[in-house]
Amino acid sequence: MSTSTTQRLPKVAGRVIGPDDAEYDKARATFYGGTDRRPAAIVRVADAPDVSRVITFARESGMELAVRSGGHSGAGHSVSDGGIVLDLKDMKALEIDVERRTAWAETGLTAAEYTIAADAHGLATGFGDTGSVGIGGITLGGGVGYLVRKHGLTIDDLLAADVVTADGELLRVDAETHPDLFWAIRGGGGNFGVATRFRYRLHDVGTIVGGMLMLPATAEAIQSFIALSEAAPEELSTIANVMPAPPMPFVPADQHGKLVIFGMLCYAGGVEAGERAVAPFRTIATPIVDMVKPGRYPEMYPPEDESYHPIGTGRTMFIDSVDQSVADTIVEHLGATDAMVRVAQLRVLGGAMARVPVEATAFAHRRSRIMVNCAALYERADQEAVYGPWVSGFAAALKQGDEGAYVNFLTDEGPERVRAAYPGSTWDRLAAIKRRYDPTNLFRLNQNIPPASSASQP
Ligand SMILES: Cc1cc2nc3c(=O)[nH]c(=O)nc-3n(C[C@H](O)[C@H](O)[C@H](O)COP(=O)(O)OP(=O)(O)OC[C@H]3O[C@@H](n4cnc5c(N)ncnc54)[C@H](O)[C@@H]3O)c2cc1C
Repeated sequence: MSTSTTQRLPKVAGRVIGPDDAEYDKARATFYGGTDRRPAAIVRVADAPDVSRVITFARESGMELAVRSGGHSGAGHSVSDGGIVLDLKDMKALEIDVERRTAWAETGLTAAEYTIAADAHGLATGFGDTGSVGIGGITLGGGVGYLVRKHGLTIDDLLAADVVTADGELLRVDAETHPDLFWAIRGGGGNFGVATRFRYRLHDVGTIVGGMLMLPATAEAIQSFIALSEAAPEELSTIANVMPAPPMPFVPADQHGKLVIFGMLCYAGGVEAGERAVAPFRTIATPIVDMVKPGRYPEMYPPEDESYHPIGTGRTMFIDSVDQSVADTIVEHLGATDAMVRVAQLRVLGGAMARVPVEATAFAHRRSRIMVNCAALYERADQEAVYGPWVSGFAAALKQGDEGAYVNFLTDEGPERVRAAYPGSTWDRLAAIKRRYDPTNLFRLNQNIPPASSASQP
C-alpha cells in the first residue's frame, strides 16, 4: 500500500520519500519525539506547482495530508500516520528588498535562517524565541517573540502571501486581493491552504542588548521580573522561564536543579538606552548567570542540537497580573513534581501588539496582558499519564478569567481548546471563510476550524 502511494503520486520537481527509502526515518521525524507515525509518503516539494499537485492528489485520493514547514507542531500535526506529508523544507528562497524594507520568503525557511539573512542588512522581522521553528507555522498562528512589544506579532509584519488552496489554485493574498483569506491566515493557522511564500515588512534592528539572565526564582523575584517587564519601554521584550536550572556548562554546578528565572531579554532600540532598560533586572537578585550584552539580533537564536527531540506536554493561557499569590503558586507547583523539565513561561505582552484592533486579524488576544505556558518534559510518551494532570492542574491554579489560548502553543487538547484560540465572532468568521476556501476540510490535520455548515451562513 505504502509503496503504491509513492508510485501513484504525480511527478514532482521535488523529491518523494517512501518507507523503503534510507532517509525515511529522518524525514518523518519531527521536533517533538515520542510518536511513531508512519506516512505513506513524504513529498519534499520544490515549488508552488508541486504544492498544487500534492494537494490535488490528497483531495482526489482522500488520503490524510500533513503540511510541514519547520516541524515544531506541539500537537503532532507535522506528520500523518498512513497519509502524505507535504514538506516545505527545501523551499528556502529569500528575496530581500533593502530599499523598500520588505522580503519575500519561501515557507521552508526557519526563523533563524531568515533572521541571519535579514541581519546582513541590519534588518529583522520578529518571529519567536527559537531559531529552528519554521516561518510557516509560526506566522500562520500569530508569532510572539523578542520584538513583540516593539513591532507586534509576526502577522503584524505580514504584507502578503502566496497560498495554494484546497482546489489546487495558487492565490496571491493581501489586503486588497482576497482580503477575507488574508485576514484568516493571520492567526487562523494552516486551515485555509498551503502558504508557499510570505511577504514581510522588515525593521531596522541591527544591534540589540539582549541574552540570558538567570536569577534565583523566589516568589518576590518572579513578581519583580514581571513588574519590571511591564514597566519597561516597548523596545524591551522579555520571557521569564521559571524552572529548575538546567545542567548547562555555563550554569554553576551548585545551582543545577535549583529553581531559577531563566530570563530572556531583548532590547531593540540602541545600546545605551538598552543598557539602561536591562539594568533594573540585574538588581532583582544577584544574577547566577548574566549573558545580557550588546550583540546582533540573530544571537538571540543560538545554534541548536538537531538530535534533540523532547517528549512533553503543555498548556497555554493568558493572565492579567502576577501578584504575590500567583508567584507563590508558580513556586509551589514547580516544586510539586519530579518531571525531568518543568517550567512556567511568562511573557509580558502589550506595546505594538496591543495597538492593533482585536478584529483586524484572526489573532484575537490583543488585549491579553501576560501569556503563560506551563509545560513538562519527560523521558517516555507513556509518562503523559503522570505529568499531563500536573500540567493541567498547574494551569488551572493560575487561571484568572481569560479563557483564551494562543493557537501555536496548543497541544492536542480537543475542539474546545481550538475554540478558545478564536473567541467570539472570530470563530464564526473563520468558519465561514473555511467553508469558502476548504469546504471539504482537506486541511484538517491542524488546530482545526471545521467549515461552517450551510445553515449557519448569512
Ligand atoms: C521549541 C519551540 C519554541 C517555540 N517558541 C515560540 C515562540 O517563541 N513564539 C511563538 O509564537 N511560537 C512559538 N512556538 C510555537 C510555534 O510557533 C508552533 O509550534 C508553530 O506551529 C511551529 O511552526 P513550524 O512550521 O515549525 O511547525 P509545523 O509542525 O511544520 O507546522 C505546524 C502547523 O502549521 C501549519 N503550517 C506550517 N507551515 C504551513 C504552510 N506553509 N502552509 C500552511 N500551513 C502550514 C500546519 O497546519 C502545521 O500542522 C514554539 C514551538 C517550539 C516547539
